[in-house]
Amino acid sequence: MEGSDNPLRTDDIPPPAPSAFGSQYHRRQQTTTMHFKVFALVMATAVMAAVNEPCIGSGGRAGVCVTTSDCSSSGGVSISGACPSDPDNVKCCTKATCPNGSAGNCRWQSDCGGSSATGMCPGPSQFKCCSSAATGFGGYPAPTIPGVGACKAVAVEGAKKVVAAFPGRVRQIYCTRDCSCPGTSDHCCGKAIDFMCSDAGGVPTMSGRELAEWVMNNRGTLNLKYVIWGQRIWSPSVDGVKAWTSWRPMEDRGDVTQNHWDHVHVSFN
Ligand SMILES: [Zn+2]
Repeated sequence: MEGSDNPLRTDDIPPPAPSAFGSQYHRRQQTTTMHFKVFALVMATAVMAAVNEPCIGSGGRAGVCVTTSDCSSSGGVSISGACPSDPDNVKCCTKATCPNGSAGNCRWQSDCGGSSATGMCPGPSQFKCCSSAATGFGGYPAPTIPGVGACKAVAVEGAKKVVAAFPGRVRQIYCTRDCSCPGTSDHCCGKAIDFMCSDAGGVPTMSGRELAEWVMNNRGTLNLKYVIWGQRIWSPSVDGVKAWTSWRPMEDRGDVTQNHWDHVHVSFN
C-alpha cells in the first residue's frame, strides 16, 4: 500500500564502493570529454550541501546543518566536520538548553518526549525546543508487515525481525515499488524494506541510527545486502563493523526522505 509519505520516489541505488569507484573513475577518464564533463557534474552535485538537515553535534546531540551565523544568533553551538559535504560556513549546530522546561533542548520534533515549541532553535521549524530530556523515539502502533508474494520472503522475514527488535519504533513499512525487476532499486524486486521511523515522511529523526546499526550487527540472520540511514551506507561485502558515524557517506539527494533521515532502507540478498 502507498501512503502520502511513501518514499517511492527514493532511488536507493547505493554509491559505488571505494574500490569500484576508483576503477569507474579511471574508465571514465579514458572515455570522451563529454562523458568526463557529465561525470564532473555528478561529482559537483555530490559535494552540495544538505543544509537544514540533521547531523550529530556537540556532545553527540541531535543537530542541524546551518550557517555558523544562524547558529550563534539562535544561541547554538557549532562544531566542524559533522556536515562534511557542506560549505565551510555551514556546520552542525546544537542547542543544549532552551527555555521550554528545565530539561529542554533543541531536537527534531519526532524525537521529543514532551511538548515542543518553535522559535527557539536554529534551522527549520521541525527542529524544536523540547520540554523533556527523554528521547521520545517512536511510540507508534505496530506497522502492517506485507505478506510474501511480490515482497520476497527474505524481506518479509527481515521486516518482522526488525519490528520485533524495536517495538513502537517503526511507524510504517514499504517493500515493493511500481517498477519492474530488475530495476533501479531492490524495491523493484521486492527485496528491500523502508522502515519509516519518524512522525511523518519528510520529518527527520535520530531514531533510525540505532535500528540501522542493529541491522548491521544482525547482517547474517537478516541476509543483509546493505543498509542506509542518515545519508550513510553500510554493506557487509565491503565494510567492516563500525559505528554509523563512520559508515560511507552518500551524496546529497536533495531532501530528508531521499537522504534517508526519516527512514532506514534495508536491501536483502
Ligand atoms: Zn528504500
